Amino acid sequence: VTLDEIRMLAGVNERAKALFADGYAAEVVSEYAVLVTNPHGVVYTVDPINATCNCAFFVKKEGAYPCKHLEGWQQLMQDQLRYQVEESNPFEEGDMLFCLGRIIMTPGAQATLETNNVPAIRLLLRHASGDWGDLEEDKKANDFDLKAGGRLLSSYHLPDETKVWVITEWNRTATTILCPEEY
Ligand SMILES: [Zn+2]
Repeated sequence: VTLDEIRMLAGVNERAKALFADGYAAEVVSEYAVLVTNPHGVVYTVDPINATCNCAFFVKKEGAYPCKHLEGWQQLMQDQLRYQVEESNPFEEGDMLFCLGRIIMTPGAQATLETNNVPAIRLLLRHASGDWGDLEEDKKANDFDLKAGGRLLSSYHLPDETKVWVITEWNRTATTILCPEEY
């Protein structure tokens, strides 16, 4: 590895972290396709499973180095989601019962939500307003933990009958959207 390569990789890494701030948007189409749109509307397709991207940089380097799209799409999704939560305020003040903290979504959950055409923001807002979804015995535990400061777990059934969980840590520093089998 040459010094130039190290510099180049550091540059890619840096830009990968700033995709959202730089005006990029991401959309998960399937496990194999995440569309990353640049601020000028040019769309690149990242394949997270095969770790490829169809941008000129990636193609020119013949896949030897990750491009910023491949490196940064997950961070981009998370930044985008956090922004949506902060911006969308369909609730009256006080309806959000607690802070969600940093929002993390697993690739499995992203793909499942995309397949079902359910925006993550909808589940996050249900969760944050104390609608814990399909949980039976845990509902009371959540209501207790909400006041006592415990971990909060919601479970939502999607149209295709798969389940997605939303978990907020006891200290409210992070909320994760995941599939039960990823827990
Ligand atoms: Zn790329």
